[in-house]
Amino acid sequence: MTFQPTIHPLDASLAPNDLAAFWMPFSANRSFKQRPRLVVGAEGMHYLTGEGRRVIDGAAGLWCCNAGHCREPIVKAIQGQAARLDYAPSFQFSHPEAFTLAARLAALAPGDLDHVFFANSGSEAVDTALKIALAYWQARGRGSKTRLIGRERGYHGVGFGGISVGGIVTNRKAFGTLLTGVDHLPHTYDRDRQAFSRGEPDWGAHLADELERIVALHDASTIAAVIVEPVAGSTGVLPPPKGYLQRLRAICDKHDILLIFDEVITGFGRLGTAFAAERYGVVPDLMTFAKGVTSGTAPMGGVIARAPIHDAFMQGPEHTIELFHGYTYSAHPLACAAGLATLDVYRDEGLFGRAAELEAAFADAVHGLKGLSNVLDIRTVGLAAGVDLAPKAEGPGRRGYDAMVAAFHDHDMMLRVAGDTLALSPPLIVTEGQIGELVEKLGKTIQAVA
Ligand code: PMP
Repeated sequence: MTFQPTIHPLDASLAPNDLAAFWMPFSANRSFKQRPRLVVGAEGMHYLTGEGRRVIDGAAGLWCCNAGHCREPIVKAIQGQAARLDYAPSFQFSHPEAFTLAARLAALAPGDLDHVFFANSGSEAVDTALKIALAYWQARGRGSKTRLIGRERGYHGVGFGGISVGGIVTNRKAFGTLLTGVDHLPHTYDRDRQAFSRGEPDWGAHLADELERIVALHDASTIAAVIVEPVAGSTGVLPPPKGYLQRLRAICDKHDILLIFDEVITGFGRLGTAFAAERYGVVPDLMTFAKGVTSGTAPMGGVIARAPIHDAFMQGPEHTIELFHGYTYSAHPLACAAGLATLDVYRDEGLFGRAAELEAAFADAVHGLKGLSNVLDIRTVGLAAGVDLAPKAEGPGRRGYDAMVAAFHDHDMMLRVAGDTLALSPPLIVTEGQIGELVEKLGKTIQAVA
């Protein structure tokens, strides 16, 4: 029998005044408040609205609900933890679940990625990783290595570190000069050479060599780390060209530069493996995670460090703090309980393998939208897809926005949108039938905004 979450009836027809106080993040607040999109419950593959509509979740929330919604073992674990131990100080004290979850994550991560530092979001995870990289070189007596290298079209959250290494102009331009000493690799997308590719495109591995150019310009003795998303998610699902990540790893090794993978989206099965690092056979020095670690049920993020990075900090008098960094809610008991239960669900239901098995059917279905008018490109990798629509004359992003609104209100489907790119990333419990339903609804939506 499936678990029935209790859904509290809630009046979804809030008056405009009721909506005024909440300044919504990354949202068109004024448009939203004219025609709100509210959900009041969720179950498995669906959201439920106040009017009783069942909205199929094509986005796993915000790329996070990989196990589906309101899963009984996760709900019960959070409830039990909240009743048993609500909070434990995270500095100089802890609780057992923090250690158990860290060990489980270390076991899941490839190679000697063995030590977990907990944060509460992807943004905090990214800033933590950048700070660990800088502090690592200081600890090694090589404090001149301070330069950070990001990538165009990279999204690494919204902290000052994250927007500095990130490559999305709208997320950067309003916020001043950002961190100094940051350079960017070129992004890896070229529509002319890669359009409608399935999985990793053939063209583009040589773009990793741009790192050599940056090294030649600044010298490796000034460069601390390179950070990339293995698959750029938020800028439209851009899989890495074949061989690109391997080449980046080799150049980093050659010049003693740390490689950071931001796996906030790619972690926990999205690509058919626990982490993208496993799919691509490339072990980074530091790896961020968030979202799927709790299947979105509780805020959590973190960094997994390779043993030699971690061990470089474990020097000096034993009673001293090794890294002056952390959050009040690092390894929060509720998030740890949620994380442990989520990892159990992934394991018991074989969800990462399931994503791998569904990849071909998913790609076939989504690529079936090729040929619809206004579809400029389609990219698929694992259970993620990006569909680029031609911008409307009114300006970039308008058609994408209209598609998201139409999908929700007219086709009962939750869709993620970045500019004019529609992104599909269903929970990993999706069935082949539901993939068909999602793609059919996506097709109708695209036609509706044509
Ligand atoms: N890094 C990546 C790769 C992400 O996709 C995101 C969020 N989409 C973040 C960092 C930031 O995560 P959060 O919103 O939890 O801060």
